[in-house]
Parts: sequence; C-alpha cells; structure tokens
Amino acid sequence: MKTLFKIIGYVVTLLIIIGFYRANTLYVDTQYYPDNDTKKVAVNINKAINNFSKAIKIPTVSKDYPTPVTPEPFLAFHQHLADSFPIVHNFAHRKIINQYSLVYKFAGTDDSLKPILYMGHMDVVPIDEDTLNKWSYAPFSGTVAQGNIWGRGAIDDKSTVMALMEAMEISLSKGDAPKRTLYFAFGHDEEVGGSQGAKKIAEYFKQQGVNFEFVLDEGGLITEDMISIVDQPLAIIGIAEKGFMNIRLTAERPGGHSSMPPENTGPGILAQAIVKLEQKKFPTTAKYTNITFDAIGSHSDLTTRFVMANQWLTEPMIINEMLNEQRTAAGIRTTTAVTMLKGSSKSNILPTKASAVVNFRILPGETTETVLEYVKAIINDDRISYEVFMANNPSKVSSTNSIGYKLISQTIREFANDALVAPYLVMGGTDSKHFYSLTNAVYRFLMIRVTPKTMSLIHGIDEHISIENYVMSIQFFHELLRKSAFDNEAPK
Ligand SMILES: [Zn+2]
Repeated sequence: MKTLFKIIGYVVTLLIIIGFYRANTLYVDTQYYPDNDTKKVAVNINKAINNFSKAIKIPTVSKDYPTPVTPEPFLAFHQHLADSFPIVHNFAHRKIINQYSLVYKFAGTDDSLKPILYMGHMDVVPIDEDTLNKWSYAPFSGTVAQGNIWGRGAIDDKSTVMALMEAMEISLSKGDAPKRTLYFAFGHDEEVGGSQGAKKIAEYFKQQGVNFEFVLDEGGLITEDMISIVDQPLAIIGIAEKGFMNIRLTAERPGGHSSMPPENTGPGILAQAIVKLEQKKFPTTAKYTNITFDAIGSHSDLTTRFVMANQWLTEPMIINEMLNEQRTAAGIRTTTAVTMLKGSSKSNILPTKASAVVNFRILPGETTETVLEYVKAIINDDRISYEVFMANNPSKVSSTNSIGYKLISQTIREFANDALVAPYLVMGGTDSKHFYSLTNAVYRFLMIRVTPKTMSLIHGIDEHISIENYVMSIQFFHELLRKSAFDNEAPK
C-alpha cells in the first residue's frame, strides 16, 4: 500500500513539473519587429469625414431575397465613390459585376508578385422601424457629433470600403504605381449571404484566372475588455469562419377538428424533436478556441498559462468554462438554434402541416451532410421530413505563417503596440467565404477598437465609429498597401 502511495506521489509530482514546464515554455507571441519606415500617413481629416458621412447618407439597404435590389442607392454609391476618389478612378480599371458590385484593379509593375485582394461590402442591414425613435441621430443622416460619425454602416462595413479608398487615393497621389497588382472588391449583398455580389465576383476572378497571395475582408477587430483572461486589448484576425445551414423540419398529419385529436399532433411531434435537439447538442471541442489561446497564453498570469499550456490535462475544465457563456460556447461546437415555428392557422383546426426551422452554425471539420445526418439520428422519428436550405460549409482554416498573416499582424502591432494579436474563428459569415478557391490565405480584420458595448451597435441602434478609429483605419490600410505593394521590397 505504502509503495502505491509513493508511486502516485511520484506521478503527481511529475505531472506538476511537466505542467509548469509547459506553462513557462508556451508558444510566445511572434516577436514584434519595428519597421522604421512605418509612418502614420497624414490624412485630410475634414475631407475624409465628409466623404464618409455622405457614404452613410446613401441607404444601400439589403433586403432578403427574392426581394429585388433597389438600384438607386447602389448606383448613387458608385457615383459617390467616383466623385470622392478621382485619382483612384483615374488609375484603376473598374469593373461592375452583376449590376451593383464593384471590382477595382490596380495594375502592378512586377508580374512576379501575386496579386492581393482587399474586400468590403457596400450594403447595410435595414433599420427596425420600431427602434427608429431610439436612435440618437437619424440612421441615414451621417451626423458628425461628439467625436463620432453616426449611422447605419458606420462600422459594418462602409468604414472598410471608404477607408480602403481613402488609403489608395493617398497612395496613388504621390504618382507611384504599385509594384504588386492589387484588387479591391466591394459586394452589394453581404448582409443576405453574398450570392449575387461576392459569389459572382469570385466567379469573375476564376474566369480571369486570377489567384491571390492573400485576401483581406472584414470580420476581425481590436477588442477591449472582451475576455477576462487577458488585460491587454486583443486584436483578433479571422482565419476561418463557421458554416451556415437551415433545416426545416416538417410533420404532415391528416388534420381535422381539434375536438377529436390524435395522440400527437404535428406541432406535438415537432416539439418532441426540438426537445431532443436541444438536449443532445453537438459534441464540443476546444480545437478552434485553442488557436486563439495559444497566441495569447504566454501573456496571461501563471494560473491561466498553466491551464492553457496543459490542455491534455485541462481541456474538460476549459470546455466547462466556455460553456458558461453564450459568446464563448458558440466557439466550441456546432450550434443549434430553433428560430421559426409554424402550425395551424386557427385554434380549433389540426394542422395538416407543421414546421420548424432550425439554424445551425457549423464548426470547421463538420459539413452540412454530417450535420443533417446527426440531426436525423438524434430525432429518429420517421414522421418528420427534412429540407435543407441556405447552406454552406465552414471555411478552410488559413495559415498563420503566410505572408498575408505576417503583414497584417505586424502592421497591427505597429499601430497598436498595447495589443496582443491572435488568430480566431469567426462565428458569423463574411463575403470572403466565397474566395477559398482563389487563395488558401483568407483573413478578416478591420483596424478599429471596440468594446462589448460598441460591438452591440453593429446591426443595432446608434451604430457609430469614432473619428479617431476611422482615421486609424485609413492609416492602417495605407501602411498595409505600402508594405504589400508600394514598398520597394514587397514580400514575395
Ligand atoms: Zn459586414
């Protein structure tokens, strides 16, 4: 017995030693190499704000398909870009895709450099009529007040489109052509999936035989006070995004009068299925949150570092912690959300058809097929039929060792040396998901600082961006353009 305790004692001691060793040798965030050339380029702030405010005034609202696109605002937006950025329009070859989306090509002087694509979207989500009177400034007024620019699209995503254009206007104003060919692509229906905008743009590039060194789209930010384990701001670069899928569950029954009901009505059968789905959620994995934790782990306190560096031991603990909050729980599994229910149109009529729509956000590693299989197996009820709609697989995972990732993360460090930079899995969807056949390096980032409060403004009431953030995003793009294309030693 004594020997057994001794052995256990040795094993425990050994585990503790290994644990601390790993905690202290955990992957150290890539060293910061200051670039002496980095300059925050001078921006004509009044002009930039004026251009941006006008862009917000144009109500480029996306409505769900099959509602047709309202042409006027998009055409007005195109014109606004042409008026605001004459040097860009003089230099670039502009191509209109599917009537409303835009591609700008800036031909480079060195053909040996693979092109880079910078993306954004011109459309915005609608304003919920009931909330209209809750806005501090009218959502399409583009009001400049209290150091902010207010309105729908101020962050998502007119900031990207306008900041990119401002940055390029400045870059080209010196009279130099880029060494590397650059493209800008601005979709017109990102908020409803990008099937008519970004998807068609990607098809256009495919026809042209264009491949990209990397693609940068919206979808990452500098977050402050977002996660408790680090005190520093965290710049998150999206390197993958979850898939999307709706399944409509339908139970067809004979119907009839509700005074003589069967054992289970259609809605009753559906309710049982829904309970099963909510009780047997998809399996969890810390695989994708780990990519973020690995990068920030070395900057946290010893306890956190111990937990992060020893996931062979602590993974169940981490998963438990993540499950406590909706925001983090979504990062460790394919999520299940019942969103729509339909039964009879009258209280005393048994429905012949009852249906429920369940929305899934799919973790990389799974597919729309595996999700459907899982759902069928869990429900296991042949009275229910399944219809899949609006489905796309999760993206591939882009490398953090590419030229693109290095350029983006280094430039972030130069502009925000207080921030930690880490890759992450994007929970929502972006237009960039359509570009994986054109490059294996797709990243998502916009250089603005947000708190949980400003995050909630995106798609919500009082969306606004501070002038400081907007100017920083212009300077950031200018620097990224310089490093990636205008610099004499643009990386290969
Ligand atoms: Zn967006």
